Order: sequence, then C-alpha cells, then structure tokens
Amino acid sequence: MQIIVIGSGFGGLSAAIRLQAQGHQVTIVEKRDQPGGRASVYQQDGFTFDAGPTIITAPDLIHELFELSDRKTEDYVTLVPLDPFYNVRFEDGSVFHYNGDQDYLIKQIHQFNPGDVEGYHRFYRASEQVFEKGFPLMTQSFSHFSDMLKVAPDMLQLQSFKSVAGFVNQYIQDERLRQVFSFHPLLIGGNLFQSTSVYAMIHKLEQAFGVWFAMGGTGALVQALARLFQELGGELQLNCEVAEILIDSKTQRATGVALKSGQLLPAEAIVTNADIASTYLDLVPPQFRCKYRDRHLESLRYSMSLFVLYFGTNRRYDQMAHHEILMGPRYREWIVDLFERKHLASDFSLYLHRPTATDPTLAPPGCDAWYALAPVPNLDGPTDWQERTQPYRDAIVQYLEQQYLPDLSQHIVTERVINPLYFRHELNSYKGSAFSVEPTLFQSAWFRPHNRSEDISNLYCVGAGTHPGAGLPGVMSSGKIVATLIGTA
Ligand SMILES: Cc1cc2nc3c(=O)[nH]c(=O)nc-3n(C[C@H](O)[C@H](O)[C@H](O)COP(=O)(O)OP(=O)(O)OC[C@H]3O[C@@H](n4cnc5c(N)ncnc54)[C@H](O)[C@@H]3O)c2cc1C
Repeated sequence: MQIIVIGSGFGGLSAAIRLQAQGHQVTIVEKRDQPGGRASVYQQDGFTFDAGPTIITAPDLIHELFELSDRKTEDYVTLVPLDPFYNVRFEDGSVFHYNGDQDYLIKQIHQFNPGDVEGYHRFYRASEQVFEKGFPLMTQSFSHFSDMLKVAPDMLQLQSFKSVAGFVNQYIQDERLRQVFSFHPLLIGGNLFQSTSVYAMIHKLEQAFGVWFAMGGTGALVQALARLFQELGGELQLNCEVAEILIDSKTQRATGVALKSGQLLPAEAIVTNADIASTYLDLVPPQFRCKYRDRHLESLRYSMSLFVLYFGTNRRYDQMAHHEILMGPRYREWIVDLFERKHLASDFSLYLHRPTATDPTLAPPGCDAWYALAPVPNLDGPTDWQERTQPYRDAIVQYLEQQYLPDLSQHIVTERVINPLYFRHELNSYKGSAFSVEPTLFQSAWFRPHNRSEDISNLYCVGAGTHPGAGLPGVMSSGKIVATLIGTA
C-alpha cells in the first residue's frame, strides 16, 4: 500500500519505520528542513543544541524499531545510561540526587525526612501496580468505547481518578519529597494536580528501565531513525508542507495530500503526525469533519507552552549534572498560574540541560552547551511574546547566575531562544502548546483523539495529541498502535 506520513517527529518516524518494514511503500513529507519535529537540532558557533527531548526513557521502544528489520541500535547510535537521572534542587540549598539505586534513594529520603521512608516503600509498590496495569495500555488502541470499559475496573482500583499529586501526597509528607515524586507530568505537558495518577507509573518506569542519553544528542537518534527508514526503502521529503488532506466526497476516504507547493501526492492511507488540532482545523476541510468540528477542538484543554533559552558558555560548570530540575519558591500556585490563570509568573521552576556533562563533543573544548527550559502559559494567555521575550530571557539568566551558575552572564558566548510563537508558527501547534492535548483523565485513553480518525477511515493519527500522549515513549507507542491498525485493516 502507498502510505503518506505527514511530519517526521518521533511518532511519525516510528510509524513510518514500522509500516515500511511491513512492506508498504511509505513517504514522509516534512514541512521543515530537517527531520525530528520538536527534536530538531541547532548548530551554532561550535555548539550543538538539541531543541527538544533529551531524557530518553523506555529505550526498548527504540530497540524494537531496529530489531524489526534484524538490525541493532548500537550500529546506528550509542545510548548511554545516566546517573543521576536528575538532580532536583531546591532554593533552600537541598539537592535530591534522583537515580535508579533504591538504597541510595531511601538514604536520601531518610536525610530529607525520616518519617517518609515507610511511605516511600508504599508509594513504590503502588507505582509498580500502576505500571503493571498501565504500561501495556500505552500500546493498546482505544478506538472503541468497549476498549475503555474493559480497563475501567482496573483504572478504578488503581485510583486513576486521583491526580498524580493527590496520589503521591497520600504516601509522602515532606513538601520537597512530594515535589521530587510528583513533578513528572510536567515533562509531558500535564498539570500534576489534575493529570490522572496513571502517570505515577513514570517513577517505576524510570526505576525499571533507567534514563538514557544518545551520544551526539537526541539529534543523533533522529538521524539514526531517518537512516533506518531510508535503508528500508522509505522516502523522506523535507521542505514539503502539506496544505490539505484530499478526501473523496463519495467514499469519505483520503486519497492523498496537496502540498503548499501545489504538488499532489496520491496515497491509499495517510498517517498524520502533525499537531492533531491543526490536522483537523487546517488540513481536513470542514465538510468532512463530524466529530472534530472547530467547536469541539476549541473546547479541548491544551497543555502549556515552553520558553527555552539555548546557550553556550566559554567555561564548564562541573558541579551541575546532565539533567537538573530547579524547583522555584512556589509549587501549587505556580502550577495554577501556568495552567489555570495562564499568567506568566515572575518566579521560576526550570529544567536545566547540560549535555556536555555526558558528551563534551557537543561544545568546543572547555565549554558547556546548555538549555534552560521554563514552562509558560500557552497562547490562550495574554502574554505578548514579541515584547516579553528579551526581559524574560534576562530574568532567567539573572536567576541562574544568582542561584546556580556564578558569573553566567559574562560567560555566555552564543545563544538563541524559542517561545510559544515558535510552537505555533514553526511546528503548527494549536495555541502554541508544547505538548498538544493536555493529559487529564477525561482527555486520556478512549477520551483522547483516537489513532484512527472517526471522521475519515483511512486517516491515522500519531504523536503527542493522540493516544497515549506526549513524550518519546508515548508518541513512539502511537506509531506502534497505528502500524498494528493498518497492518490488520
Ligand atoms: C523543549 C522540549 C523538551 C522535551 N523534553 C522531552 C524529554 O526530555 N523526553 C521526552 O520523552 N519528551 C520530551 N518532550 C516531549 C517530546 O519531545 C514530544 O512529545 C515529542 O517529540 C513529539 O513528537 P510528535 O511525534 O508528536 O511529533 P513533533 O515533534 O511534534 O513533530 C511533528 C512534525 O510534523 C511537522 N508538520 C506539522 N504540520 C505539517 C504539515 N502541514 N506538513 C508537513 N509537516 C508538518 C512538523 O514540522 C514536525 O516536524 C519535550 C518537548 C519539548 C518541546
């Protein structure tokens, strides 16, 4: 079958490789001049900056792609385990070194608050149970309501109606430890006070499979997947933006795509990895949309956006680990600002990426490559990013300099930023959301946009806005689901 995949994010690449390996003839059409989507790369002044994902969990989903065609990941890209997974730093100076060594974690919990050791054991067992039931759901299609009914009893038993914070807080008392074990939904665009507690399985997932990094950066992993796809006979067309999905009005089936250039490409099935809301709003004419009408898409909740400052320093800061979570002075109220009030807060909670801690070749000798990521409201908020970008960048640099990186401003030798406008205009992401549809209970599993379109039967959907959701394990699982759906159609 001739299949077109719109977009080359991890979801698109994963679906394309699987479908090509099944014997279909797959063409990826990508708007930008490089594959990877959010995982694109900036090279400047001798520094290499991964624009997006850096934390690799569930590496088996990557290995599977190579094994499908009797190849080995290590012949294409080197994945290395990280220790610590992250340092979680608090403004009172305390640091939690989060890694996969249970004895070490428990020792640190004891130092933070001896009373929480017993609660952590119970939390870990509960996270394990959620993982055992919840992880297989990530590769299961929720196309029919009956799929949801089958898992509902387990979900109820696992208290999935609780938020991640509510789930963690029943076991842990120390405020800092509560943050250590509950911040993870933020990594996939979730409000931890509202995301279903199924995401509490991330703790077990990390403990079981570790946190990994691709040497050369995540961009090296993207290149490896693109190479694999092309070696299997797939075609990757860059600088090709799809303007419309062509639909036969008699059969209500997609027949191909029209590119912005005016070129028409025929196909028997289409997989869209473009943002799900933009796919329906911009690429599928309204007369073919019964479920995904404008009003329905507008009524969904979309995740927050991000402001990311990429910078290179002409010195190294070896006291900082590869991944640093820098917790600000407020937690719940900061989250309310971000998700509910959509107000750009003046205090920061940041994720700081320092890949040169693991791979010094990403910067000139003696230098560090970095990014500082600040979650910010999506474009539903009133912030004028043309005006706020420079002051916000300055405030981040000042904060990092005062708290963690002495004399930072004197040592920055190259930099660039992205803000919500980048997500809107460069990645075609509705409302400039960084993670698409927010992972709340009623926007998960069957409630989330399906992997097979309800409106057009040979249109399939992968990526962050579809089931199971954002993050590399989520979007790669969506590719697996779609390959199975097409394989058995
Ligand atoms: C800064 C940042 C850091 C992150 N960190 C992590 C992390 O450490 N670990 C993790 O697991 N996840 C992380 N995430 C989340 C993760 O990166 C995303 O959920 C995931 O990469 C999204 O993949 P996707 O398949 O949805 O496709 P996307 O990456 O969204 O790619 C979609 C592609 O479709 C293309 N496209 C859109 N419209 C069209 C069109 N009309 N025609 C042609 N092409 C089109 C776009 O150009 C883009 O290339 C991070 C995200 C960001 C933004």
